[in-house]
Amino acid sequence: MARSFDTLTAAEIAAGIAAGDFSAAEVCAAALDAIAAREPEVQAFLQVTPELAQDAAARIDAARAAGEALPPLAGVPVAIKDNMNLTGTRTTCASRMLETYESPYTATCVARMLAAGCIPVGKANMDEFAFGSSTDSSAYHPTNNPWDTTRVPGGSSGGSAAAVAAGMVPLSLGSDTGGSIRQPAALCGIVGMKPTYGAVSRYGVVAFGSSLDQVGPFGRTVEDVALAMDALVAGGRDAYDSTSQEVAPAFAAAAAAAGEGLAGVRIGMVPAFMEAEGLTPEVRRGVERAAQTLADAGAEIVEVDLPHVDAAIAAYYVIGPAEAFSNLARFDGIRYGYQEPGCTNLATQSALSRAHGFGDEAKRRQMLGAYLLSSGVYDTYYYAAQKARTLITADYNAAFAQVDAILMPATPHAAFRHGEISDPTQMYLSDMYTISLNIAGNGGIVVPVGLGEDTGLPMAAQLVAPAFADERLVTYAAAIERGLANGNNGASVLGVAPAFAGKGGELR
Ligand code: GLN
Repeated sequence: MARSFDTLTAAEIAAGIAAGDFSAAEVCAAALDAIAAREPEVQAFLQVTPELAQDAAARIDAARAAGEALPPLAGVPVAIKDNMNLTGTRTTCASRMLETYESPYTATCVARMLAAGCIPVGKANMDEFAFGSSTDSSAYHPTNNPWDTTRVPGGSSGGSAAAVAAGMVPLSLGSDTGGSIRQPAALCGIVGMKPTYGAVSRYGVVAFGSSLDQVGPFGRTVEDVALAMDALVAGGRDAYDSTSQEVAPAFAAAAAAAGEGLAGVRIGMVPAFMEAEGLTPEVRRGVERAAQTLADAGAEIVEVDLPHVDAAIAAYYVIGPAEAFSNLARFDGIRYGYQEPGCTNLATQSALSRAHGFGDEAKRRQMLGAYLLSSGVYDTYYYAAQKARTLITADYNAAFAQVDAILMPATPHAAFRHGEISDPTQMYLSDMYTISLNIAGNGGIVVPVGLGEDTGLPMAAQLVAPAFADERLVTYAAAIERGLANGNNGASVLGVAPAFAGKGGELR
């Protein structure tokens, strides 16, 4: 009997291909078919890459026919955020600035997903240069939230999240500088993970804030995210990213360990986070549901304090723009990027190329960064932000002396409508729960906790672990998923957004 490919997890697709239940070519065809059927309403992609996908699928099928052992994610379709280089694709960062930029090589994170057997179906939409929380700042088109297409998917990795939530791919990659994996995962009802800074190589990912950026996966189940994490860290530290560290590929095993319960585990909660202004009651109830599930699995819930964390957003909007200003200086139409025609001198060339190549938010961030790094101003803001960073990091370290992980909201509210938040400062607040982790460097995971009673939209909780203890995140998130997915096969709390489930993409 024909079934839609979106009923399968990444783990099930790889197992089905290895067992000969279906071929990688069939899965690839189903994924491209699902994309064709769903993409007009979702618009998650900037570029779909059928040839790259079909070639990769053919290689998997040939390897299987030759009796070779298949890699762990053989035949699993994956979407790649468009700030990651992949040979044979453009890497536009959703900017006019890089409209014609062809990837000169493949980013390490992408190469590792391909080495694990994934088939690349396309490059996903994002906020321009990853500045944003809605994906509405893409220079090309907005992306729609599959749970309600009048709403945003979050950002900046909104295309990567929407592609997974709409069932077009089981896995995707995003990047997270202040919340860009975790906030869209929360708004789209899927799992998203930002590992500890340094766990995944940034080589080949267009830099935004070099001390904050980290790559991570999206999936519909914790197990799938764990499998992607194993793929991303396999091969050890990357000599091309000096901050990259050796991490054991023990994530899938850690997700499975949730079955043993959480006796002896201490989970911290920050009372101030649960009472914060702007947190909607339905999100708070969702996080409380997650806490109850962890307690039911045997964990002890205790209160912890992060006294300086209120300074995180302010510190981030100094450090982030300062680093972005430095990183984006190369896009001047001379070294890289859009080149304004007809200019007769270099200064005009650079000024006009930048004026016409960048959108509003990218300009706002760079002007802010330029100002913050100017003499006189630098001491007042940049040093203060670095001091706040030290204090926030110390807060987390002190909390982790008492608890194994911290449970908190991922976002203050459910997905908002396109255009609903027009004030940039208001938009920045949508990352009030995610930013402090990038400041401190710790890893975080977002897991769906069901639909909100008031909006009917996906709700989520976030877990944070000590630096380089990211495997705990998947164990505890898997425990939440198991506890909440009763009657749903234990597989996924929400699954594919109902309007898109089964729409095209039949596996024949
Ligand atoms: N929304 C935050 C910002 O606009 C975070 C973006 C990100 O993580 N790339 O800076």
